[in-house]
Amino acid sequence: MIYPAPTPLSERLRSLVDTVQHNERTLRRFQDVELRLIGAQDFVSFLDTLFGHLPREFSLSAVSLWLDERAPMLLELLEPAALRAMDRPNLKTSREARRVAQCLCEGGQPWLGRPRELDEVSRRAFFGDAQVPASAILLPLAAGHTVSGYLCLGSDDANRFAQGMATDILERFASIVTASLDNVSHRERLKQLGMTDPLTGLSNRRYFDERLREELVRAARYGVPLACLFIDVDSFKRINDTYGHQTGDRALAAVAACVRQQVRLGDTVARYGGEEFAALVQGDRADAQTVAERVRVAVEKLHLLDDDGERIALTVSIGVAARTVSGSPAEAVALGRAMMDEADRAMYQAKHNGRNRVEALLGETARD
Ligand code: GH3
Ligand code: MG
Ligand code: MG
Repeated sequence: MIYPAPTPLSERLRSLVDTVQHNERTLRRFQDVELRLIGAQDFVSFLDTLFGHLPREFSLSAVSLWLDERAPMLLELLEPAALRAMDRPNLKTSREARRVAQCLCEGGQPWLGRPRELDEVSRRAFFGDAQVPASAILLPLAAGHTVSGYLCLGSDDANRFAQGMATDILERFASIVTASLDNVSHRERLKQLGMTDPLTGLSNRRYFDERLREELVRAARYGVPLACLFIDVDSFKRINDTYGHQTGDRALAAVAACVRQQVRLGDTVARYGGEEFAALVQGDRADAQTVAERVRVAVEKLHLLDDDGERIALTVSIGVAARTVSGSPAEAVALGRAMMDEADRAMYQAKHNGRNRVEALLGETARD
């Protein structure tokens, strides 16, 4: 009997290292696509990433998305006029496609295989008259038990997606697509409701006041403290006078992004007025002071250039205040107003004490 010569250890090791490196590269490319999806400011750029960037990066011959218009927030996004205006043949909402996807992804599991082997009705539901990929994977976009859509990735390679393959990376990707879709729908909804400030992309004062109310009621229910930051750009009139209004606008957008970066994803940040921003932070006054100091330093370090390439120095003055709320929702709302008022006064104290500072009104601690 002839036995094959055993593979030398070095060769096996090399092949193992190759595999690891390949997997690492794949993960990095996935991360890049995921960051684009999570950061998408609107539905159009979300779809551009899915239908343009994703197939290019992963050599896919087809990417299509079916969305359920009955899912929360998706209805307006997918109304017929909006869909026609976007003209994306890969974006589908037909009931037929849902029925097929539900059937294929039984039990919420991804389906992998060769679409050409499907019956014609099923095939058409997802691929229309377009070139049918040689193999494909259909991934449910699900949060809990709610499926808001299905993502279909197709390849010219008949063996790329086949039953029995490990799908954990792609399932993880599908969950990121689901979260990003949720995020982008929220953004679109805020735009429709006129609750976003177009210059900075932050929420506006109207939205902030609504969130403040909700957060206070929540804080009262759980007996946790809530804090706020009132942020005002220092001597901003001089920035406008020196560099012009347009550069002033750019500076405001940069400060806004800076504030957004320094707070947690769930914290509310808004453009409260011209060159004023407000943030709601989960935590007590010490927590708020820490966040405020981070914001102050980040703005001071901002590298913003004027049209001649000269650095524009920017600073902010920040007032903080916090409350541990209890009592009825009406009492909570009154406390919230007092908290904002106190942060505003603390901000003026920071101006008075020389600007580029964080202040809290010490005399008022006893009440917190
Ligand atoms: P202080 O340090 O005391 O806050 O001084 P300041 O100059 O920042 O305060 P002041 O309230 O006197 O001026 C605010 C300036 O912000 C005046 C206004 O023209 C400018 N501003 C408000 N909204 C905008 C905007 O959307 N774009 C630009 N470029 N400037 C704005
Ligand atoms: Mg001001
Ligand atoms: Mg100012």
